[in-house]
Amino acid sequence: MSVLAESIHTFSQIWRNPQKTKDAITAFQNRKLRSIIANAYQYVKYYRQLFDAAGIKPQDIKTIEDLSLIPITSTQDYRTRPLQDVLSSKIDPKKTVKRSTSGSSGRPFTVHRTSWEDHLINFFHIRVLQQFGVLPLDKTAHVRLVSASHQRDNIPGAVRQALGIHRVYPIHSLLHENEIIHELSLLKPDIVFGYPTVLAHIAGLIGPERSSGINPKFIIAGGESLTPFRRQEIERGFGKRVFGLYGAHEFNKVAWECPDSGDYHVCDDNLVLEVLQNGRPAAVGEQGEVVATGLHSYAMPFIRYRLGDIVTRGPEVCSCGQPFSTLRAVQGRLHDYFRLPNGRLMHPDKIVVPIMESESGWFNRYELIQEEVDRILLRIQPFQNPSEGQLVNVKRLAMSQLPSDVEFRIEIIDEHSFKPEGKFRFCRSMVHSHTDKISWDQF
Ligand SMILES: [Zn+2]
Repeated sequence: MSVLAESIHTFSQIWRNPQKTKDAITAFQNRKLRSIIANAYQYVKYYRQLFDAAGIKPQDIKTIEDLSLIPITSTQDYRTRPLQDVLSSKIDPKKTVKRSTSGSSGRPFTVHRTSWEDHLINFFHIRVLQQFGVLPLDKTAHVRLVSASHQRDNIPGAVRQALGIHRVYPIHSLLHENEIIHELSLLKPDIVFGYPTVLAHIAGLIGPERSSGINPKFIIAGGESLTPFRRQEIERGFGKRVFGLYGAHEFNKVAWECPDSGDYHVCDDNLVLEVLQNGRPAAVGEQGEVVATGLHSYAMPFIRYRLGDIVTRGPEVCSCGQPFSTLRAVQGRLHDYFRLPNGRLMHPDKIVVPIMESESGWFNRYELIQEEVDRILLRIQPFQNPSEGQLVNVKRLAMSQLPSDVEFRIEIIDEHSFKPEGKFRFCRSMVHSHTDKISWDQF
């Protein structure tokens, strides 16, 4: 089957797949996988070399069960090679659609797709929006980094916008928070979509009385980890439900929160997602790292590709009746975590939550930075200068969560010295995390 015929077949099935059986979804995955593998071996130098070195022929990979034969690939494998080695030899890079990560995720990288591939996988996104309850005439405010790669010509998107269907209004997430709130109150969107940290920050400023007139039907949060704490902050501020969305530039949609069960549906007809703990499949309820295979990427294939995200595996089929496999939780990027001297990973919210519950009254803004593996800094820009007792209490609360070999400091700063770099984050680590160094037992 040609790539075009496969793509037409995929397009014809996207809307039907949620009503199919699990077996039918698996058959769909197997068919797409065989096509992707054959194409990658024939036209992509990197995968041909990888398969040859491992002694695998494309015909050895008949079903998703056979995937484990293929060695895992990381972003590093792509970044350290010339583009032509990881791009199909049939593709002219001048004619591809380019999706670049901002770099704030810790893995700056450009993904190439043909324009047709890009449109095709975008239909998975529209399907997710429909499942959340977005109606065709709803206005969505998308608070995000507005980069050049997002401003390219998107004909179907422009047509939709002109017809008033699935209209999306980008608001730059690096604007001052008052400007973001001003834009939202002018737009009065039906849906607000954005990064959890930015939305949580905005939610805290809007407040429960919502005098700003911002009154969406619900919120969609994606692009970084949506921790229970951030979810609570957003829901309290906006007074509306939050739906989590898990995506990645390499695949577009990875998983989305089921409105009924609260688990995440894996977008099984877009990718094959494996959850691995120390190289073996994680059991239901166990955490592991995500290794995924894109089922529609022919220009730049991603086969058993390590995404660097941590998730908890959920049941094989969602309790709502849809045939997709599930994730119980998406813990998110390793880069969102602090790796402590004993190898243990800790989400910074473990430090932030107790402090916020007890001392947030005098905080205007804060930033928690892991400067070194054993050094954490909390920068606070206060409404009023704290008392000695308040500072001692903040330090005590932080140290109650940290091992004794980690130094914790507080810095009080004025508004002018508060300049978060890049994407706004409450917490960031300057320490690089690698999955092979994780102590899973203690995570
Ligand atoms: Zn479900």
